[in-house]
Amino acid sequence: MTHRSGRHFLQIPGPTNVPDRVLRAIDSPTMDHRGPDFALLGKEVLEGMKAIFKTRGNVVIYPASGTGAWEAALVNTLSPGDRVLMAETGQFAALWQKLATRLGLVVDFIPGDWRHGVDAAQVEQALVADKAHSIKAVCVVHNETSTGVTSRIALVRNAMDRAAHPALLMVDSISSLGSIDYRHDEWGVDVTVAGSQKGLMLPPGLSFNAIGDKALAASKTAKLPRAYWSWDEMLGPNQSGYFPYTPATNLLYGLREALRMLAEEGLDNVFARHARHGEATRRAVRAWGLEILCINPEEYSNALTAVMLPEGHDADKVRDIILDRFDMSLGTGLGKMKGRIFRIGHLGDFNDLTLAGTLCGVEMGLQLAGVPIKAAGVQAALEYLANPGVQAAGTPVRVRIA
Ligand SMILES: *Cc1c(COP(=O)(O)O)cnc(C)c1O
Repeated sequence: MTHRSGRHFLQIPGPTNVPDRVLRAIDSPTMDHRGPDFALLGKEVLEGMKAIFKTRGNVVIYPASGTGAWEAALVNTLSPGDRVLMAETGQFAALWQKLATRLGLVVDFIPGDWRHGVDAAQVEQALVADKAHSIKAVCVVHNETSTGVTSRIALVRNAMDRAAHPALLMVDSISSLGSIDYRHDEWGVDVTVAGSQKGLMLPPGLSFNAIGDKALAASKTAKLPRAYWSWDEMLGPNQSGYFPYTPATNLLYGLREALRMLAEEGLDNVFARHARHGEATRRAVRAWGLEILCINPEEYSNALTAVMLPEGHDADKVRDIILDRFDMSLGTGLGKMKGRIFRIGHLGDFNDLTLAGTLCGVEMGLQLAGVPIKAAGVQAALEYLANPGVQAAGTPVRVRIA
């Protein structure tokens, strides 16, 4: 291995770059998780996460990847053979569906083309048709990390209300929380699933359930077996800041620091920053003459952009060239998008110049791979970043260099 100077550009849509402040916080001695110091840490992070989910309800933290929190949401609230309504928005929705099936749930999977979010009208139709109320939960992914398409959760909630259906609403916010506005209470979500390694700017290893009252009530009668994931076991000790088993103490130090950083910047500013970088990226893609996978502008993800390659060009070859020449990792096409797209992560600890560097690497890589593009993407993004007066439609205002 030859030495590569400078920082690696980790521009996959998770795990994201971990800020130095968070790395330093994690670099601490291990601690007594039954001692008094831990209770303070536990209380601070459990309380802090409520503000991120925008909930007044309980949040539990698992030493697990996001997949563990998917399982926790289902096993705490449902019983064997329960029907669950899910929507095929992409690879992560498909994986959650498979996990639900393996647990013995019966999934109605609304098919999708991987270029759109959840169709609320189809959810409403399925619920209205379910006169017996045998569907016990609607499970959707807020930000489909495999496609760069977001689903509008408030519309799904409205559809459920219009159908007057009592199913629980469960949402995967693993790649949106801390990057794209998310409102657990306001949107009437019953369980939200999240993970540490995307918008929260931490290494992988923590995941979360935000739990509404209705979900908590459902957990009292739900019959799927659960032990490690049991909310009851967690919520008791959590009241005094403790955990029923050894928590990932050093990651919690990191979480405390990340929560402080998000509070210092202000969540609304964090979301505005992501919106700006999302828009700049999309302008670059259009100026290259390439297509964004997401079709509906109202569903654009501000956390990542999936870029389609013209027929006959392999997206993974472009990624390989960029990694080899510029030491930058981009997201691969998952599932049926393999080779067709690459994904640019622009979430987490990220600023204008990180985006500029990222787009430069992509533009050079596309050219080196022989993809027919106009070398105008970086310029289009820079004009937007340097001049907030640039409007989405009209003629761009030129940056004036005196
Ligand atoms: C990353 C991700 C997951 C999977 O989380 P793991 O930590 O890999 O288990 C699930 N859903 C979405 C939307 C994701 O982005």
